[in-house]
Amino acid sequence: MKVPFVDLKEQQEEIKVEINRAIQNVIDSTQYIKGNFVSEFEKNFASKLNIPYCIGVGNGTDAIYIALKMLGVGFNDEVITTANTFIATAEAITMTGAKPVFVDCELSTFNIDPNKIENKISDRTKAIIPVHLYGLPANMGAIMKIARNHGLYVIEDSSQAHLAEVFVEGAGWKKAGTVGDFGTFSFYPGKNLGAFGDAGVIITNNESLAIKARMFADHGRLSKYNHDFEGINSRMDGIQGAILNIKLNYLEKWTAARRTIAAKYNDAFKSIPQLSIPNYPEMHHVYHLYVVRTEKRNELQKYLTQNEISTGIHYPIALPNLPAYAHLGYSREDFPVASMLESQVLSLPMFPELKEIQLDYVIEKIREFYNKKS
Ligand SMILES: *Cc1c(COP(=O)(O)O)cnc(C)c1O
Repeated sequence: MKVPFVDLKEQQEEIKVEINRAIQNVIDSTQYIKGNFVSEFEKNFASKLNIPYCIGVGNGTDAIYIALKMLGVGFNDEVITTANTFIATAEAITMTGAKPVFVDCELSTFNIDPNKIENKISDRTKAIIPVHLYGLPANMGAIMKIARNHGLYVIEDSSQAHLAEVFVEGAGWKKAGTVGDFGTFSFYPGKNLGAFGDAGVIITNNESLAIKARMFADHGRLSKYNHDFEGINSRMDGIQGAILNIKLNYLEKWTAARRTIAAKYNDAFKSIPQLSIPNYPEMHHVYHLYVVRTEKRNELQKYLTQNEISTGIHYPIALPNLPAYAHLGYSREDFPVASMLESQVLSLPMFPELKEIQLDYVIEKIREFYNKKS
């Protein structure tokens, strides 16, 4: 049986009629860039997350870049982030002229290790960017405490964590992205909430930063030729806004489907000691990815491939170990956990439309690999 790692086709079929109508509406109105469809989506997404301000931008990388610029981050500054993330997080830091400073991740959650942050804080540090990797929120309580003690800003890269929740002492359960100074999201097609192209948003509780971010993302203006300062061009398209508006209505349902699949995986793998599943106290995972850890990763992946099951590796090379960051002069020993994960993590098929028989088949093959009777 063929099991894809992710399949966007089925979801599109499910909402095809609504989507086609929405796209036609945008074309009929000619609101191709920004406009009502985008502002409607901004309003709806903000209300889902229970936050006052949401700004549509071109993509999730720009969202981080713009948030950093709004906080005044630039040349000679340092920004702390996790060694285990997609390169976009660090690229956005470099784009401002600042230097990314990597911190190792935790073995249990794969997220930035709060205990290793303070060592990396210098006179130049301006901000921390935790990433809610794979859909599991980072430990925001601990991170906010460190940030407050050292006068640092916090931007939550929530590109993989739409609707995830994190428990913060004193504040209760909060949506990922709403705890720090800014939250940023990507709607790259494969994300939990995906557009039909590139799109992203920035969210914040701060009105003046929200106004400035909206201007910066649109050539430094609020009205057509009135430019208060120089900005960039990073705007959401009307068609993406209209599509996201429709898909947002399904996001809870799709997230619940991801959780059901994850629960089944978790249950099936409990009895396989050689296979670790993520452990996450007091956090609500949204399973953008379902990542297991095993010393036999390459063998397991090969076995699954032979059985027509597609898997992924997120990520095969930790950021500090990439040629792109060789100039920072790190060694693998500086990031023992992230470096070890390179050869141990495996992402299993995970998307809301994954069928029960496909899921059962994946589980059966994994149990078979470890010589377990199902
Ligand atoms: C997808 C992603 C981004 C960037 O998103 P784009 O929309 O592709 O620019 C940033 N950070 C993380 C962790 C991501 O997964």
